[in-house]
Amino acid sequence: MVGPVIYTCGTAEQKARYLPPILKGEEWWCQGYSEPGAGSDLASLKTRAVREGDHYIVNGQKTWTTLAQHADWGFFLVRTDPDAKPQQGISFLLIDMNTPGITVRPIITIDGGHEVNEVWLENVKVPVENLVGQENQGWTCAKFLLAHERSGIAGVARSKKGVERLKALARAETVEGAPLIEDADFKRKVAELEIDLTALEVTELRTLAREQAGRGPGPESSLLKIKGTEIQQRLTELALEAVGSYGAPSVRGFRDMGDNFSVGPDHAHWTAPNYFNMRKTSIYGGSNEIQRNIIAKMVLGL
Ligand SMILES: Cc1cc2nc3c(=O)[nH]c(=O)nc-3n(C[C@H](O)[C@H](O)[C@H](O)COP(=O)(O)OP(=O)(O)OC[C@H]3O[C@@H](n4cnc5c(N)ncnc54)[C@H](O)[C@@H]3O)c2cc1C
Repeated sequence: MVGPVIYTCGTAEQKARYLPPILKGEEWWCQGYSEPGAGSDLASLKTRAVREGDHYIVNGQKTWTTLAQHADWGFFLVRTDPDAKPQQGISFLLIDMNTPGITVRPIITIDGGHEVNEVWLENVKVPVENLVGQENQGWTCAKFLLAHERSGIAGVARSKKGVERLKALARAETVEGAPLIEDADFKRKVAELEIDLTALEVTELRTLAREQAGRGPGPESSLLKIKGTEIQQRLTELALEAVGSYGAPSVRGFRDMGDNFSVGPDHAHWTAPNYFNMRKTSIYGGSNEIQRNIIAKMVLGL
Protein backbone atom coordinates (compact mmCIF):
# COMPACT_ATOMS: atom_id res chain seq x y z
CA MET A 1 0.00 0.00 0.00
CA VAL A 2 3.00 2.30 0.19
CA GLY A 3 3.13 2.47 -3.63
CA PRO A 4 0.30 5.02 -4.05
CA VAL A 5 1.88 7.25 -1.37
CA ILE A 6 5.33 7.23 -3.00
CA TYR A 7 3.68 7.74 -6.39
CA THR A 8 1.66 10.73 -5.14
CA CYS A 9 3.84 12.32 -2.46
CA GLY A 10 7.37 11.04 -3.23
CA THR A 11 10.24 12.78 -5.04
CA ALA A 12 11.31 11.71 -8.54
CA GLU A 13 14.28 9.88 -6.97
CA GLN A 14 12.02 8.02 -4.51
CA LYS A 15 9.67 6.97 -7.30
CA ALA A 16 12.56 5.69 -9.44
CA ARG A 17 14.13 3.83 -6.51
CA TYR A 18 11.09 2.24 -4.82
CA LEU A 19 8.24 1.80 -7.30
CA PRO A 20 9.79 -0.65 -9.83
CA PRO A 21 10.71 -3.30 -7.20
CA ILE A 22 7.23 -2.92 -5.61
CA LEU A 23 5.57 -3.50 -8.99
CA LYS A 24 7.77 -6.51 -9.69
CA GLY A 25 7.22 -7.94 -6.19
CA GLU A 26 10.98 -7.89 -5.57
CA GLU A 27 10.91 -5.91 -2.33
CA TRP A 28 8.49 -6.51 0.52
CA TRP A 29 7.20 -3.79 2.80
CA CYS A 30 5.63 -3.63 6.24
CA GLN A 31 3.55 -0.89 7.81
CA GLY A 32 4.80 0.79 10.99
CA TYR A 33 1.79 2.81 12.11
CA SER A 34 0.29 1.25 15.27
CA GLU A 35 1.93 1.42 18.68
CA PRO A 36 0.95 -0.12 22.03
CA GLY A 37 -0.75 3.16 23.01
CA ALA A 38 -1.77 4.33 19.55
CA GLY A 39 -4.19 2.24 17.49
CA SER A 40 -7.57 3.84 16.89
CA ASP A 41 -6.10 7.07 18.25
CA LEU A 42 -3.18 6.81 15.84
CA ALA A 43 -2.22 10.49 16.10
CA SER A 44 -1.07 9.92 19.69
CA LEU A 45 1.89 7.86 18.43
CA LYS A 46 5.17 8.39 20.29
CA THR A 47 7.95 6.86 18.18
CA ARG A 48 10.39 9.73 17.96
CA ALA A 49 12.64 10.82 15.09
CA VAL A 50 15.24 13.48 15.83
CA ARG A 51 17.18 15.06 13.00
CA GLU A 52 20.97 14.95 13.33
CA GLY A 53 22.71 16.35 10.23
CA ASP A 54 21.63 14.34 7.19
CA HIS A 55 19.99 11.55 9.25
CA TYR A 56 17.06 10.99 11.59
CA ILE A 57 17.67 8.99 14.75
CA VAL A 58 14.53 6.94 15.43
CA ASN A 59 13.52 5.44 18.79
CA GLY A 60 10.25 3.76 19.74
CA GLN A 61 8.05 0.70 19.43
CA LYS A 62 5.53 -0.37 16.81
CA THR A 63 3.12 -3.26 17.17
CA TRP A 64 0.88 -5.57 15.10
CA THR A 65 3.33 -5.06 12.22
CA THR A 66 2.13 -7.56 9.60
CA LEU A 67 4.85 -9.77 8.08
CA ALA A 68 7.67 -7.54 9.37
CA GLN A 69 9.72 -10.72 9.74
CA HIS A 70 9.90 -10.94 5.93
CA ALA A 71 9.98 -7.24 5.06
CA ASP A 72 12.89 -5.56 3.30
CA TRP A 73 11.49 -2.09 4.01
CA GLY A 74 8.99 -0.48 6.33
CA PHE A 75 7.04 2.76 6.07
CA PHE A 76 6.84 4.33 9.50
CA LEU A 77 4.94 7.17 11.11
CA VAL A 78 7.25 9.01 13.50
CA ARG A 79 6.92 12.08 15.68
CA THR A 80 9.27 14.82 14.54
CA ASP A 81 7.70 17.70 16.49
CA PRO A 82 6.56 16.73 20.00
CA ASP A 83 5.31 20.26 20.71
CA ALA A 84 2.91 20.54 17.76
CA LYS A 85 -0.74 19.38 17.80
CA PRO A 86 -0.76 15.54 17.52
CA GLN A 87 -1.54 15.35 13.78
CA GLN A 88 0.84 18.16 12.87
CA GLY A 89 4.09 16.79 14.31
CA ILE A 90 4.15 13.47 12.42
CA SER A 91 6.42 12.49 9.50
CA PHE A 92 6.38 9.57 7.06
CA LEU A 93 9.73 7.73 6.86
CA LEU A 94 10.91 4.81 4.72
CA ILE A 95 13.20 2.57 6.76
CA ASP A 96 15.42 -0.29 5.57
CA MET A 97 14.45 -3.16 7.90
CA ASN A 98 18.07 -4.36 7.96
CA THR A 99 19.27 -1.14 9.62
CA PRO A 100 21.08 -1.76 12.94
CA GLY A 101 18.84 -1.06 15.95
CA ILE A 102 15.68 -2.74 14.55
CA THR A 103 14.39 -5.80 16.41
CA VAL A 104 11.38 -7.79 15.20
CA ARG A 105 9.61 -9.99 17.77
CA PRO A 106 6.78 -12.37 16.82
CA ILE A 107 3.21 -12.19 18.14
CA ILE A 108 1.54 -15.60 17.74
CA THR A 109 -2.17 -15.29 17.04
CA ILE A 110 -5.00 -17.50 18.34
CA ASP A 111 -4.95 -19.62 15.15
CA GLY A 112 -1.28 -20.41 15.84
CA GLY A 113 0.05 -18.31 12.96
CA HIS A 114 3.01 -15.92 12.91
CA GLU A 115 1.65 -13.04 10.94
CA VAL A 116 2.11 -10.03 13.23
CA ASN A 117 5.06 -8.67 15.17
CA GLU A 118 6.37 -6.09 17.57
CA VAL A 119 9.04 -3.89 16.01
CA TRP A 120 11.47 -2.12 18.30
CA LEU A 121 13.58 0.78 17.04
CA GLU A 122 16.63 1.76 19.04
CA ASN A 123 18.80 4.62 17.73
CA VAL A 124 17.97 3.63 14.15
CA LYS A 125 19.81 5.89 11.69
CA VAL A 126 17.64 6.84 8.70
CA PRO A 127 18.89 9.06 5.84
CA VAL A 128 16.94 12.31 5.48
CA GLU A 129 16.25 11.46 1.81
CA ASN A 130 13.94 8.67 3.09
CA LEU A 131 11.41 11.26 4.27
CA VAL A 132 8.26 11.20 2.10
CA GLY A 133 6.57 14.58 1.71
CA GLN A 134 7.41 17.43 4.06
CA GLU A 135 8.65 17.01 7.61
CA ASN A 136 5.69 17.17 10.05
CA GLN A 137 3.22 16.69 7.18
CA GLY A 138 3.17 12.88 7.32
CA TRP A 139 -0.43 12.68 8.57
CA THR A 140 -1.72 13.65 5.12
CA CYS A 141 0.27 10.78 3.53
CA ALA A 142 -0.90 8.43 6.31
CA LYS A 143 -4.59 9.16 5.69
CA PHE A 144 -4.18 8.89 1.91
CA LEU A 145 -2.58 5.46 2.35
CA LEU A 146 -5.30 4.27 4.75
CA ALA A 147 -8.07 5.12 2.29
CA HIS A 148 -6.36 2.91 -0.32
CA GLU A 149 -5.69 0.20 2.25
CA ARG A 150 -9.36 0.11 3.31
CA SER A 151 -10.58 -0.16 -0.27
CA GLY A 152 -8.18 -3.09 -0.73
CA ILE A 153 -9.29 -4.80 2.48
CA ALA A 154 -12.80 -5.05 0.98
CA GLY A 155 -11.32 -8.10 -0.83
CA VAL A 156 -14.14 -8.75 -3.31
CA ALA A 157 -12.14 -11.17 -5.48
CA ARG A 158 -10.98 -13.14 -2.44
CA SER A 159 -14.53 -13.41 -1.12
CA LYS A 160 -15.80 -14.61 -4.50
CA LYS A 161 -13.24 -17.39 -4.29
CA GLY A 162 -14.39 -17.96 -0.70
CA VAL A 163 -17.99 -18.44 -1.83
CA GLU A 164 -16.88 -21.13 -4.29
CA ARG A 165 -14.90 -22.84 -1.54
CA LEU A 166 -17.91 -22.67 0.80
CA LYS A 167 -20.17 -24.20 -1.83
CA ALA A 168 -17.69 -27.03 -2.40
CA LEU A 169 -17.71 -27.67 1.33
CA ALA A 170 -21.50 -27.67 1.43
CA ARG A 171 -21.63 -30.11 -1.48
CA ALA A 172 -19.30 -32.49 0.39
CA GLU A 173 -21.12 -32.28 3.75
CA THR A 174 -24.45 -34.03 4.24
CA VAL A 175 -27.54 -33.49 6.39
CA GLU A 176 -29.74 -36.55 6.85
CA GLY A 177 -28.22 -38.13 3.76
CA ALA A 178 -28.63 -35.13 1.45
CA PRO A 179 -25.88 -32.63 0.50
CA LEU A 180 -25.89 -29.60 2.81
CA ILE A 181 -25.99 -27.34 -0.24
CA GLU A 182 -29.57 -28.56 -0.82
CA ASP A 183 -30.68 -27.62 2.68
CA ALA A 184 -33.11 -24.68 2.28
CA ASP A 185 -31.85 -22.77 5.32
CA PHE A 186 -28.18 -23.12 4.42
CA LYS A 187 -28.94 -22.25 0.80
CA ARG A 188 -30.67 -19.06 1.96
CA LYS A 189 -27.65 -18.03 4.02
CA VAL A 190 -25.29 -18.55 1.07
CA ALA A 191 -27.65 -16.65 -1.25
CA GLU A 192 -27.83 -13.68 1.16
CA LEU A 193 -24.05 -13.61 1.28
CA GLU A 194 -23.74 -13.67 -2.51
CA ILE A 195 -26.26 -10.84 -2.87
CA ASP A 196 -24.27 -8.71 -0.39
CA LEU A 197 -21.05 -9.57 -2.22
CA THR A 198 -22.50 -8.55 -5.59
CA ALA A 199 -23.66 -5.23 -4.12
CA LEU A 200 -20.19 -4.69 -2.65
CA GLU A 201 -18.54 -5.45 -5.99
CA VAL A 202 -20.66 -2.87 -7.77
CA THR A 203 -19.91 -0.29 -5.08
CA GLU A 204 -16.21 -1.03 -5.36
CA LEU A 205 -16.32 -0.69 -9.15
CA ARG A 206 -17.97 2.73 -8.72
CA THR A 207 -15.15 3.72 -6.37
CA LEU A 208 -12.53 2.50 -8.84
CA ALA A 209 -14.19 4.48 -11.64
CA ARG A 210 -14.00 7.63 -9.49
CA GLU A 211 -10.38 6.85 -8.70
CA GLN A 212 -9.62 6.51 -12.41
CA ALA A 213 -11.15 9.93 -12.90
CA GLY A 214 -8.81 11.29 -10.21
CA ARG A 215 -11.44 11.53 -7.45
CA GLY A 216 -10.99 9.32 -4.47
CA PRO A 217 -10.97 7.09 -2.67
CA GLY A 218 -12.66 9.15 0.01
CA PRO A 219 -14.77 8.12 3.01
CA GLU A 220 -16.52 5.48 0.87
CA SER A 221 -13.43 3.35 1.53
CA SER A 222 -14.73 3.00 5.12
CA LEU A 223 -18.00 1.61 3.79
CA LEU A 224 -16.13 -0.88 1.56
CA LYS A 225 -13.98 -1.93 4.51
CA ILE A 226 -16.93 -2.57 6.84
CA LYS A 227 -19.04 -4.49 4.35
CA GLY A 228 -16.11 -6.43 2.87
CA THR A 229 -14.86 -7.61 6.25
CA GLU A 230 -18.36 -8.53 7.44
CA ILE A 231 -18.70 -10.75 4.36
CA GLN A 232 -15.25 -12.29 4.93
CA GLN A 233 -16.14 -13.14 8.52
CA ARG A 234 -19.57 -14.47 7.55
CA LEU A 235 -17.91 -16.81 5.04
CA THR A 236 -15.74 -18.31 7.77
CA GLU A 237 -18.75 -18.65 10.09
CA LEU A 238 -20.75 -20.54 7.47
CA ALA A 239 -17.76 -22.81 6.69
CA LEU A 240 -17.50 -23.68 10.37
CA GLU A 241 -21.27 -24.21 10.54
CA ALA A 242 -20.99 -26.57 7.55
CA VAL A 243 -18.40 -28.88 9.12
CA GLY A 244 -19.66 -28.59 12.71
CA SER A 245 -17.48 -30.16 15.37
CA TYR A 246 -14.99 -31.49 12.79
CA GLY A 247 -13.56 -27.96 12.71
CA ALA A 248 -12.48 -28.15 16.35
CA PRO A 249 -9.49 -30.52 16.16
CA SER A 250 -7.55 -28.08 14.00
CA VAL A 251 -7.53 -25.25 16.53
CA ARG A 252 -4.39 -24.45 18.49
CA GLY A 253 -4.11 -26.77 21.46
CA PHE A 254 -5.51 -29.74 19.61
CA ARG A 255 -2.95 -29.18 16.87
CA ASP A 256 -0.16 -28.98 19.46
CA MET A 257 -0.98 -32.59 20.34
CA GLY A 258 0.90 -33.62 17.20
CA ASP A 259 0.56 -34.06 13.47
CA ASN A 260 -1.22 -37.38 13.87
CA PHE A 261 -4.12 -35.84 15.73
CA SER A 262 -6.63 -35.70 12.94
CA VAL A 263 -10.38 -36.29 13.12
CA GLY A 264 -12.98 -35.79 10.40
CA PRO A 265 -12.58 -35.09 6.69
CA ASP A 266 -9.56 -33.15 5.39
CA HIS A 267 -11.78 -30.39 4.00
CA ALA A 268 -12.85 -29.52 7.57
CA HIS A 269 -9.38 -28.80 8.88
CA TRP A 270 -8.90 -25.26 7.62
CA THR A 271 -12.26 -23.99 8.83
CA ALA A 272 -11.54 -23.25 12.51
CA PRO A 273 -8.08 -21.67 12.06
CA ASN A 274 -9.54 -19.59 9.24
CA TYR A 275 -12.51 -18.56 11.39
CA PHE A 276 -10.19 -17.38 14.17
CA ASN A 277 -7.72 -15.70 11.82
CA MET A 278 -10.39 -13.69 10.05
CA ARG A 279 -11.54 -12.03 13.30
CA LYS A 280 -8.66 -9.65 12.53
CA THR A 281 -10.38 -8.12 9.54
CA SER A 282 -12.80 -5.99 11.53
CA ILE A 283 -9.84 -4.66 13.57
CA TYR A 284 -6.98 -3.97 11.15
CA GLY A 285 -6.85 -1.03 8.76
CA GLY A 286 -8.76 0.88 11.48
CA SER A 287 -11.49 -0.98 13.38
CA ASN A 288 -15.01 -1.13 11.94
CA GLU A 289 -16.28 1.01 14.84
CA ILE A 290 -13.85 3.73 13.79
CA GLN A 291 -15.00 3.38 10.16
CA ARG A 292 -18.59 3.95 11.34
CA ASN A 293 -17.41 7.11 13.12
CA ILE A 294 -15.76 8.30 9.87
CA ILE A 295 -18.95 7.65 7.88
CA ALA A 296 -21.02 9.48 10.53
CA LYS A 297 -18.74 12.49 10.32
CA MET A 298 -17.64 12.63 6.67
CA VAL A 299 -20.70 11.22 4.88
CA LEU A 300 -23.69 11.86 7.14
CA GLY A 301 -22.29 15.11 8.61
CA LEU A 302 -23.17 14.12 12.18
C1 LIG B 1 -3.98 -9.01 12.40
C2 LIG B 1 -3.66 -7.55 12.53
C3 LIG B 1 -2.74 -6.99 11.66
C4 LIG B 1 -2.37 -5.65 11.80
N1 LIG B 1 -1.40 -5.15 10.98
C5 LIG B 1 -0.93 -3.90 11.19
C6 LIG B 1 0.20 -3.41 10.45
O1 LIG B 1 0.75 -4.09 9.58
N2 LIG B 1 0.65 -2.17 10.74
C7 LIG B 1 0.08 -1.37 11.67
O2 LIG B 1 0.53 -0.26 11.85
N3 LIG B 1 -0.99 -1.80 12.39
C8 LIG B 1 -1.50 -3.05 12.17
N4 LIG B 1 -2.57 -3.52 12.90
C9 LIG B 1 -3.11 -2.68 13.98
C10 LIG B 1 -4.53 -2.17 13.75
O3 LIG B 1 -4.54 -1.14 12.83
C11 LIG B 1 -5.07 -1.76 15.13
O4 LIG B 1 -5.21 -2.94 15.90
C12 LIG B 1 -6.39 -1.05 15.03
O5 LIG B 1 -6.24 0.23 14.48
C13 LIG B 1 -7.08 -0.91 16.42
O6 LIG B 1 -6.21 -0.36 17.34
P1 LIG B 1 -5.95 -1.06 18.76
O7 LIG B 1 -5.64 -2.50 18.52
O8 LIG B 1 -4.93 -0.25 19.49
O9 LIG B 1 -7.33 -1.02 19.50
P2 LIG B 1 -7.94 0.20 20.34
O10 LIG B 1 -7.72 1.47 19.60
O11 LIG B 1 -7.41 0.12 21.73
O12 LIG B 1 -9.47 -0.12 20.32
C14 LIG B 1 -10.05 -1.12 21.18
C15 LIG B 1 -11.54 -1.21 20.86
O13 LIG B 1 -12.18 0.05 21.15
C16 LIG B 1 -12.87 0.53 20.00
N5 LIG B 1 -12.73 1.98 19.91
C17 LIG B 1 -11.60 2.70 20.11
N6 LIG B 1 -11.85 4.02 19.95
C18 LIG B 1 -13.17 4.13 19.62
C19 LIG B 1 -14.03 5.23 19.30
N7 LIG B 1 -13.57 6.48 19.25
N8 LIG B 1 -15.32 4.96 18.99
C20 LIG B 1 -15.80 3.68 19.01
N9 LIG B 1 -15.03 2.60 19.31
C21 LIG B 1 -13.74 2.82 19.60
C22 LIG B 1 -12.19 -0.15 18.81
O14 LIG B 1 -13.08 -0.27 17.72
C23 LIG B 1 -11.83 -1.50 19.40
O15 LIG B 1 -12.94 -2.37 19.32
C24 LIG B 1 -2.98 -4.84 12.78
C25 LIG B 1 -3.95 -5.41 13.64
C26 LIG B 1 -4.29 -6.74 13.51
C27 LIG B 1 -5.31 -7.32 14.46
